[in-house]
Amino acid sequence: MANQRLQSDVVVVGAGPAGIAAACMAAENGRKVSVVDNSPWLGGQIWRGATAHSAHGLAGHWIDRLKKSGVSVMSNATAFAAPSSHVLLAETPDGVLELSWKKLILATGARERFLPFPGWTLPGVMGPGGLYAMVKSGWPIARKRVVVAGSGPLLLAAADGLKQAGASVGLLAEQADWGQVLRFGMGLWRYPGKLLQGAGMKARLLGVPYRCGRWPVKVEGTARVERVTLTDGSRSWTEDCDYLACGFHLVPNVELPCLLGCAIANGFVRVSEFHLTSVPEVFCAGEPTGIGGADSALVEGQVAGLAAAEAWDRARSFFSRRAAWQRFQASLHQAFALRPELRQLAAPDTFVCRCEDVRLADLKRCDSLRSARLHTRCGMGSCQGRTCGPAVQFLFGWEEDSVRPPLFPVRLASLTDVSSPLDKHRLETDKSSRT
Ligand SMILES: Cc1cc2nc3c(=O)[nH]c(=O)nc-3n(C[C@H](O)[C@H](O)[C@H](O)COP(=O)(O)OP(=O)(O)OC[C@H]3O[C@@H](n4cnc5c(N)ncnc54)[C@H](O)[C@@H]3O)c2cc1C
Repeated sequence: MANQRLQSDVVVVGAGPAGIAAACMAAENGRKVSVVDNSPWLGGQIWRGATAHSAHGLAGHWIDRLKKSGVSVMSNATAFAAPSSHVLLAETPDGVLELSWKKLILATGARERFLPFPGWTLPGVMGPGGLYAMVKSGWPIARKRVVVAGSGPLLLAAADGLKQAGASVGLLAEQADWGQVLRFGMGLWRYPGKLLQGAGMKARLLGVPYRCGRWPVKVEGTARVERVTLTDGSRSWTEDCDYLACGFHLVPNVELPCLLGCAIANGFVRVSEFHLTSVPEVFCAGEPTGIGGADSALVEGQVAGLAAAEAWDRARSFFSRRAAWQRFQASLHQAFALRPELRQLAAPDTFVCRCEDVRLADLKRCDSLRSARLHTRCGMGSCQGRTCGPAVQFLFGWEEDSVRPPLFPVRLASLTDVSSPLDKHRLETDKSSRT
């Protein structure tokens, strides 16, 4: 039995820009709305920790609007199972919350993509977004030497934030070629806000070399990272550092949509023009439908929220803006496509699944994610494949073929509370995967 039950017209999972915008729109159009988010704050990845009082600009506007809209917000609530139609279970510090919904909006965001290379599991090697997030929460970075590497615009945002927090950023190494990045930059005139944001970051990063067509190949250190070796494909060199902030763009969090049976196309949740997924009454907005940043997520969230409230004409009024952001998503995808050389970085003894200590050589004996799970436990550790899944997808082309509850590690009590519906789901999944 769940400890608490809540019935809503609309449940939103995720309180980032997409989820906040969706919740506001649905509530302002007369719906009873609940939002759950697994972090202790509102704002998702980009506005984390912001409050209506502390935040300025867009974040302040939307968080204030959410507070005034009458939406019930449950922070520290992780949606981990969908035991029956129109029901979602979320684990909270007080137990399991059973959420009944008429319409569901999934706004679960994205995470950083990590690729394995020798030394990538040493302490001090982190995702740029992750390191910046820790610094925003008070992690001391002043005077530390940081190399930022990998791919995507998050490298610039993180380097900018780290430098402002007092880090000594020695190098920003983008794996994409200069030509691709230049073409992307030249297309930004269509998005004046982004152009200004990019120009501001470049100005603040004056003196930090931004090098394209460079990527890390090896990290060394005794107890933690001390130096990183990078290459441009023909020449290699070493940079001393206290931190390597390395991530290869973002991958969408599609586990919950998959659990609910939403169709996926090219790695993203497939949605209609109103952000309806292939499952009736389930909508999806923000990064799970395409990586495009906070502005894109906000517009998509508004369309999804209005559609969930059946305010179709108002939803349509956002279509042209949304189309512009979809073009931006496509140009991001093209500009920061991963180069094939990155598939060769891991050595036979490099860990690919760091939770279960599975090395590249162990995986070479497998031919699918399922056989890798069965024979090596790859993807079966505490991150449940969130880190190694996108890496093996890139290295071997193995696609995720099943998602099972619980989506996140939960307390035993949460599982026993709901054991019968979960067992039923498991049996149904097993049966359908055999047919
Ligand atoms: C680590 C990281 C740091 C970033 N930092 C920056 C930055 O500094 N500047 C910048 O411009 N962009 C940054 N980005 C990109 C930015 O987050 C996105 O472009 C933007 O926030 C997308 O908004 P969204 O609403 O789609 O998703 P998000 O903002 O990611 O919001 C999704 C929310 O859903 C929650 N969630 C997911 N699954 C569940 C579940 N099952 N149960 C409950 N809650 C769930 C997540 O905790 C999250 O709070 C960062 C991305 C990452 C991954």
